[in-house]
Amino acid sequence: MSKIEWTDKTWNVITGCTQTSPACQNCYAKSMTNRLQGMAKKGIKGSEKYISGWDSVIFHTDMLGHIFNFKKYPSGCKVFVIL
Ligand code: SF4
Repeated sequence: MSKIEWTDKTWNVITGCTQTSPACQNCYAKSMTNRLQGMAKKGIKGSEKYISGWDSVIFHTDMLGHIFNFKKYPSGCKVFVIL
């Protein structure tokens, strides 16, 4: 279950971006990636792949199969895809 009230799950399959607009100043994805990077720096299990943080665009191909894991993502659940 996600801590975000309007979704059931999150799927962080791509991290990183290049900020190009003033509108990017409050980027949710950047905040999320920075949080995951902080977890990786603390050595929290499962967060290792986020160690590069926001400055590198990374397609986490290892996450592709996760969306077909119907135990983790059961039919009908709302999934927030953070790109
Ligand atoms: S993901 Fe964030 S930094 Fe990238 S374009 Fe969107 S708002 Fe801007």
